[in-house]
Amino acid sequence: MGIILCKKCGREISPDSKYCGNCGTIVMLKDNIIDVIKYQRGLIYVILFRILLLLAALFRIIPPDRIIILAVIGLSLLVAMLFMIVQLLGAMDYGFVIVILCCILVFFPLIGLITLLVINGRATKILREAGLRVGLMGVNPGDLQQISNN
Ligand SMILES: [Zn+2]
Repeated sequence: MGIILCKKCGREISPDSKYCGNCGTIVMLKDNIIDVIKYQRGLIYVILFRILLLLAALFRIIPPDRIIILAVIGLSLLVAMLFMIVQLLGAMDYGFVIVILCCILVFFPLIGLITLLVINGRATKILREAGLRVGLMGVNPGDLQQISNN
């Protein structure tokens, strides 16, 4: 294994350490970074679809007698959201307790939204520290392609 240098301060970091001992920057493996990019985008899409579904229900785009369709889509999105949260937090090296806690918190109306924003914010911070540009929809697919190939 080669020597790892901190991207921020240039100091050498021991291979088994996850943080730079000098400046505290998170050290992440490329595979983890790629997972953070993928699952952050996945989570953003799931949230957008949930908002669309909510609007569809609110404005009765889907007729009330087809409520079962809304329920099925809603439930699928919920499962997808939990999957993205678990994967994203795992890629960011969060432990079991935090993951379970977040999965519970997202079910509460306002706290759930805040939890999602915090998780998304953490992912954005890690990706920016890795030198990536992060927009409203996460890292753009072109940039993901680029680091996958390097
Ligand atoms: Zn450093």
